[in-house]
Amino acid sequence: MSEPIYRQQRFLLMTLDPVHVGTGGYRLGRVDLSIVREPGTRLPKIPGTSLSGAIRQFAAMRYESRRCAGMGEGEKSHCRDGKCPVCYTFGYIRGSEGGQSGTVSIGDARLLLFPVYSMAGPVWVTSPSALRDFAIEVKVGDDAVKVASGLANHPHLNLGWLMLKKEEGGFDLPDAVPAEIKARAVLASDKVFSQVVNSNLEVRTSVSINPETGAASDKALFTYEALPRAALLWLDVIQDDFQPGGRVFPITDKKCKVEKTTDETGADKKRYTHNAGEPLGETWSMPLNVVRAGLRLAEHLGIGGMGTRGFGRVRLTGDWEVR
Ligand SMILES: [Zn+2]
Repeated sequence: MSEPIYRQQRFLLMTLDPVHVGTGGYRLGRVDLSIVREPGTRLPKIPGTSLSGAIRQFAAMRYESRRCAGMGEGEKSHCRDGKCPVCYTFGYIRGSEGGQSGTVSIGDARLLLFPVYSMAGPVWVTSPSALRDFAIEVKVGDDAVKVASGLANHPHLNLGWLMLKKEEGGFDLPDAVPAEIKARAVLASDKVFSQVVNSNLEVRTSVSINPETGAASDKALFTYEALPRAALLWLDVIQDDFQPGGRVFPITDKKCKVEKTTDETGADKKRYTHNAGEPLGETWSMPLNVVRAGLRLAEHLGIGGMGTRGFGRVRLTGDWEVR
């Protein structure tokens, strides 16, 4: 049976560390490194372009064909082999000869549930528009909340400076949300959700070190914001594997075998043999399998900036096809 050409897969992620994916603007000396936000709602997001680069890198590490990570320029060119699942999935560059586009597009990771402390302990806040993409239609008053069963005993909900009254009725959450989070979920209006999120982001202060002297530089303190631990985000990945030339995804259950060899001039060279290395531990039968394998490594390797400071690990908690 052949795998589908077109497929939309939704991935649910949970942050295990604070995650900082910055806007690229550095303003040392003030509130400095802000994270990327959605233009309309001002809610933080992780851009698909950042995710795509990380997922490609991790998939190439998993497959042990490290040259196929990265941008593929110059010395570190991609292997460009039609039998390489990484190059097939993400595409490759071939200098002036053009290249080959990939077969997946990776969307932005958007907030679904945001953790915040309340008088009732930790709760996870969501909103009607955050749930709409899951085909869950709910309403809630502007200054009220609906709460999950685990919070039913608390008459009010105090989210820091916000005291919100409870409304009758429950609300659904996507199946893949962990049960302990579902039990402590709170539905607030879109406006309150945005306020809660933006006033509860992690803000940290760090010292900037001069790399030449190893000493703290002048105006050395800088602050940066980050998504906190235990936030839930989701993203869609579209696989569109229609290939006019009849390319076929190179199904593999083994990693790439990389051997050291020499070329005609005696210079060191590496030989890449696909589907010939150590067992992968799973079978990659379509590009989405490569994406999933890469995304799983984000739990150990982390995404975004501040990677050296215990930042950026995200756990894939589930994925399913969107029909
Ligand atoms: Zn490759």
